[in-house]
Amino acid sequence: MSADDYGYLSTYTNHRCRCVECRKANAEYHRISKIRRAGRPVPEHLHGSAGTYGNYGCRCRPCTDAWEAQLRRTPGRRKGRTRRRILLRTLTVLSPFPSTSKPLSA
Ligand SMILES: [Zn+2]
Ligand SMILES: [Zn+2]
Repeated sequence: MSADDYGYLSTYTNHRCRCVECRKANAEYHRISKIRRAGRPVPEHLHGSAGTYGNYGCRCRPCTDAWEAQLRRTPGRRKGRTRRRILLRTLTVLSPFPSTSKPLSA
């Protein structure tokens, strides 16, 4: 693999190179293909897949089920519901009323 191979999606995919340039190329490819797909209707045969849920933003029942099943299979990833709860807790912590400024009673 020569220096000319860096910075391409094919290098990222085929050579599993994870240098900054190849990752950039990969991210750009996914960004563009996501935008392209977002404007298109979901092909009928793609329903019921977690990829359709993620890439097309399809929220039909079969796609949502597949997505949730994938989340359950993937360790370390939290469900959206759990994440929202944590976010709420963070917001409470960041409230403008600090609990530490309690006046000391002598
Ligand atoms: Zn690379
Ligand atoms: Zn669907």
